[in-house]
Amino acid sequence: MVGLDMQPITVPPPSGQRVHARCDLLGHAPYSDDAQGLFRPYLGAGYRATLDRIAAWMSDAGMSVRVDAIGNVVGRYEGIAPDAPSLLIGSHVDSVRHGGRYDGMLGVILGIEVVAAFARVGRRFPFALEVIGFGDEEGSRFPAAMLTSRTVAGVREGFDLSMVDGDGISLAAALAEFGLDLAAIDDARIAPGRVLAYVEAHIEQGPVLEAEGRAVGVVSAIAAQHRYRVTMQGMAGHAGTMAMHLRRDALAAAAEAIGTVERIGRAGPADLVATVGRLEVLPGAANVVPGDVMFTIDVRAGTNAVRDAAAGEILSEIRDIAARRDIVLGVALQHDLDATPCDAHLTELMEQAVVDVTGAPARVLVSGAGHDAMVMAHLVPVSMLFIRCEKGISHNPAEAVSTADVEVALRTLTDFVCLFERRC
Ligand SMILES: [Zn+2]
Repeated sequence: MVGLDMQPITVPPPSGQRVHARCDLLGHAPYSDDAQGLFRPYLGAGYRATLDRIAAWMSDAGMSVRVDAIGNVVGRYEGIAPDAPSLLIGSHVDSVRHGGRYDGMLGVILGIEVVAAFARVGRRFPFALEVIGFGDEEGSRFPAAMLTSRTVAGVREGFDLSMVDGDGISLAAALAEFGLDLAAIDDARIAPGRVLAYVEAHIEQGPVLEAEGRAVGVVSAIAAQHRYRVTMQGMAGHAGTMAMHLRRDALAAAAEAIGTVERIGRAGPADLVATVGRLEVLPGAANVVPGDVMFTIDVRAGTNAVRDAAAGEILSEIRDIAARRDIVLGVALQHDLDATPCDAHLTELMEQAVVDVTGAPARVLVSGAGHDAMVMAHLVPVSMLFIRCEKGISHNPAEAVSTADVEVALRTLTDFVCLFERRC
């Protein structure tokens, strides 16, 4: 028989509404550095105001609150025994310029609401619940992303305190200005064993859940990525006098290559995406056959194997195109990121929580975008829940989520915590 304390908790309806309203409140000044919309760079004035507000909400929800050595805000709700390892729930509080109100912030505010729901009924677990608002995920101020989760997870290689923001202020100076002790930065690192798992809820930032009519989805992995810079060199010539059969048109070759990228991307599994996002044409005149072209290829998939197979096929076909057209081809791999699988057991629990709440099988999908969970996976098992956003729009003031979907996410996360207690 299941004891009363093992029953999943029911969250009263106003909670989802409160989460939504809180994200909206934080969407403008004084929580933004931009009077016109939302821009919340790491360690800025809006960031400080936001941390103060979040700390107050965490405290109201029954948590003790601290700002760690790299400027993350962390709330802690003790378990049955004090000082137990924690289940960490979070996302990021910084935003891009002209950002949306839910990217990152929704995951933080949902975490607070999950704790508030349990605190309201005095429910405690064999583990503590901690909620973290990561300071920098977007690279919102300095030329590097995920600075704060990298510090927490202890994967700080290549992370330089002398890097400067757009105004020439160094990270070291910004941290000191914020009141943080530079010598103590590594104190933000979480010791192995202190955290059992990391759970992140985030808007999908894509259109799949909306297209399929689902409020939430479970992330199986964060995509592997390759980005290439491709150059094609032919021969520029007079558009009026150069006979068609004698041309070495670099843009016509590139057009064929771009079609190949799309065709191979479409033919693969659903988690494969391939994009040409940038194209430069020289000399770029209406009356000149293009002699030089540069374009980028971005290939992502849920596993390294799928990405590598697709990238290999694309590059092989592009070599054939170049050879056939007598084009000099250059290919440089500029960005190489391995896939981060979410923990299989936690993913199963999250799927079960979605079934419990929605009554339908969970949609499992790959995240094409990077998240703090990707970094935290170096430290602990991770799980991610995606929430439908309108038209898949993100990094845009038009970013929108429905209160009903937030409610589903909230119930799913609270159910997940109960399942985690039973099965871990
Ligand atoms: Zn985000």
